[in-house]
Amino acid sequence: MTLIAVSIPVDDSADLDAALESARRAARDGADLVEWRVDGLADRLLPRDAELAQRLVRRLIEVAPKPSIVTVRCAHEGGAWRGDDAHRVAFLEAIGTGDPAPRYLDLELASFERSANLRQKVRLAVQHDRQARDLKTSLMLSAHDFDSRPADLLSRYARMVDEPACAVAKLAWRARSLRDDLEAFEILRERRAPTIALCMGEFGLVSRVLARKFGAFLTFARADGGIETAAGQPTVRELVQRWRFRRIGAATKVCGVIGWPIGHSLSPDLHNAGFDALGIDAIHLPMPIEGSWESFKATVGAMIDFEPLSFRGASVTIPHKEHLVRFVRERGGTLCPIAERCGAANTLTVERRDGTTELGAVNTDAPAGVGALLAGMRSIGAGVASPADRAALFGRRVALLGAGGAARALALGMLDAGAEVVVFNRSRERAEDLVREIGAARGGRGASPIRVGGGLDEVGAVGPFDAIVNTTSVGMEGGETQGRSPIAGDFPFAPTMVVMDAVYRPRETPLLRAARRAGAVVVDGTQMFLRQAEAQFELWTGQAPPPGVFAQALDRAERPS
Ligand code: NAP
Repeated sequence: MTLIAVSIPVDDSADLDAALESARRAARDGADLVEWRVDGLADRLLPRDAELAQRLVRRLIEVAPKPSIVTVRCAHEGGAWRGDDAHRVAFLEAIGTGDPAPRYLDLELASFERSANLRQKVRLAVQHDRQARDLKTSLMLSAHDFDSRPADLLSRYARMVDEPACAVAKLAWRARSLRDDLEAFEILRERRAPTIALCMGEFGLVSRVLARKFGAFLTFARADGGIETAAGQPTVRELVQRWRFRRIGAATKVCGVIGWPIGHSLSPDLHNAGFDALGIDAIHLPMPIEGSWESFKATVGAMIDFEPLSFRGASVTIPHKEHLVRFVRERGGTLCPIAERCGAANTLTVERRDGTTELGAVNTDAPAGVGALLAGMRSIGAGVASPADRAALFGRRVALLGAGGAARALALGMLDAGAEVVVFNRSRERAEDLVREIGAARGGRGASPIRVGGGLDEVGAVGPFDAIVNTTSVGMEGGETQGRSPIAGDFPFAPTMVVMDAVYRPRETPLLRAARRAGAVVVDGTQMFLRQAEAQFELWTGQAPPPGVFAQALDRAERPS
């Protein structure tokens, strides 16, 4: 079983009560161990007030709700201890042999190896008799690199596990990409002793959550509201609740959302709620991949080829939707007809059958967007020829705002459903490219026309329209255009008109607010977002998520905690 250790820094004697309260909360949230990071405290008090420092640390150990790890991390491995190693080791020796004693003492491999005298003292402090070790203080040897993967990572690991006094070997380094997480998993798979292998920074969450899948001794987390002692640490509550740590096992299948940046995606909340509702042993995680084609190809390729990861697919978003199509083509996989024709896909599927791996790139944005728009059209009722099917769009005039990836998918979907599409975009050239390429992709099929209408300020002059569909990012929360509408606030919306926005944060964009006030039917971006996610879930699992589960998960995820 992989434990959760909450890491709590203690810099001052005045911090003791708050630190203990944090530990109690973390234990309630699910922490199994408390790492007391007392480097700040030790740095302040040693060697002058060594007895006071010992008393304070013993109090932490005694009152802690869970067994303790005591760490006095030195500055060159990311800690606050700047003093002489001899003082630090004398302190650890006193703590390790005192009463109460912590379950583990952590010491950096580099410090441990620096002097024979020190090694002898540490070995004494941890009473390294292998038989009885479980009952006494044990030594955790550790190595950290806050910049990158150290060149001698594997030799450091070998030196740790070869040391008889070492009960747990810990490696932590700043990941340069998700490929570093895969190396952490390789180390865990081939471990020769209880091992912790974690990646720090924005690429490291996967290694922290999946530590359990690969049998790590423990993973670190921070206390709720507490500061992280290493970059990228989730809180204990996030680890247990959002990332479902206790439900992860060796057989857990792995999916994710790939994009750059990706930290704020709510896709994992939806898919994980679906896995829970259906009892499927799988996890969906954010998977940041830098924007270039090379990064995408190398990282996704490595995840697919590393079979123990059980990688089953991913939601793919900006800026990698076109990379996905290229990748699956290069690997000889299958493209859905829409991905084939519009050159972009948002879903990767990875199926393993009889020793072979089959890849697929599917565009669920187009059917999701069209489905959401159709639902809006049906709700108008009057004038809709066939409310139950795609005929609701047949012959309808739609103003499509935007000419990016979402616009391409929606243009194809709407044209296939028989709509007439007029494209408006800030950059006219891009709108012309879209019209030419989508027209060519459709070949001679159907009579539905697509043409360029002009800039975003020309929609009123070219109308009237049955529907306006915004696929620009204008109005998106946190973006430069937050609070703005892609078309003028006094646009003459009509009650017979459907206005849909692909932007889903906020739910009511300035465009939708103006349209709703004028009596138009509005369709917010969550309608498309939920549909495209539900279709992805079905592609990976073969089952639809139970009705309402994704919508409820989205409501929960959007609620401020
Ligand atoms: P994209 O390929 O980057 O396209 C961005 C579009 O927005 C382009 O048409 C761009 O115009 C326009 N734009 C950006 N900033 C603008 C500004 N300041 N003024 C006017 N126009 C501006 O992105 P995408 O993948 O199509 O995504 C577009 C939006 O749809 C995003 O907000 C995304 O979150 C949302 N989306 C939602 C869903 C869903 O499920 N609800 C699915 C996919 C996408 P130029 O061509 O002139 O640059």
